[in-house]
Amino acid sequence: MENAGLKIKALQREMALEKPVLRGELSISEDGEGAVYVAKSAGFCFGVRRAVDTVYDQIQAGKGPIYTYGPIIHNEAVVKDLEDHGVQVLDQEEELMKAAAGTVVIRSHGVPEKVYRTIERAGHSLVDATCPFVRKIHTIVQERSRQGDQIVIIGNPRHPEVEGIMGWCSGHAVVIENEKEAEEFAGKAPEGLKIAIVSQTTFNFQKFDKLVEIITRLRYDDSAILNTICNATEERQTEARAIAKIADAMVVIGGKHSSNTQKLFEICKKECERTFFVQTFDDLNLSLMPSRGIVGISAGASTPNNLIEEVSKQCRKTILLNRC
Ligand code: SF4
Repeated sequence: MENAGLKIKALQREMALEKPVLRGELSISEDGEGAVYVAKSAGFCFGVRRAVDTVYDQIQAGKGPIYTYGPIIHNEAVVKDLEDHGVQVLDQEEELMKAAAGTVVIRSHGVPEKVYRTIERAGHSLVDATCPFVRKIHTIVQERSRQGDQIVIIGNPRHPEVEGIMGWCSGHAVVIENEKEAEEFAGKAPEGLKIAIVSQTTFNFQKFDKLVEIITRLRYDDSAILNTICNATEERQTEARAIAKIADAMVVIGGKHSSNTQKLFEICKKECERTFFVQTFDDLNLSLMPSRGIVGISAGASTPNNLIEEVSKQCRKTILLNRC
């Protein structure tokens, strides 16, 4: 591969900048002509990692039965492994009431306030793995709605995180997902109504701005705009785009139903024609990998570390030892 060594040196220089976008792990072959870059932001975000670790900690503590309220993560392999360790998934409040007293772990998306009371009433111990960024939104809407503000949540009304946020508002909360709904709300909301706008943590930033602009366009009162979007998704996409721009091949790892992995794949494919979507190590066709140059690796938010490690190891073998 022409200029592979120069390209790798340029990547090293970029990684040495004061605040680099590319902060992942770079392995370089002895001849300096082949490299594998594993994105720092690949895989679990802080909140998901914390929730999954919490469940494994409970297993270690050995106090059964252990339940999670909803699957802890949208990854079949992880949920199956937890099941094999005796962890049961409960989806409804009725199930909480019927289940034998045990420990209930609340996942990173959080739950409505009433679910905490149900867990207590059912005699379970509660382990709260709600992501602190989501918990912060609960506190905001709880306080603001108590003060009489109309809460507006920008997000998907069917997403468990949004359902959880709604469950912390004392009055009725409005959920707005698109421009049509924003226009309708803006046309109906009376002048003088105090509005507090928050966002689902994974909502698209540009879309949030656009919807806020529509909602507040005709208002001359003080609407509180609280941008509660978490930057984990954006960081993952920015890093993947940056490495895909210079990579000779990209591997994106994640579940085929994971929308954030699909989005990541699209972003990388746009920059690097040779981008591969793999669910597990078995999907990786090493004969399609270049033997020299840069191979970049990223992964969706629900991809476990061991899977990323397995795929990276094989890519390193191929490109660093030049072994297909
Ligand atoms: S708020 Fe951010 S860090 Fe927390 S679970 Fe959601 S994406 Fe992950």
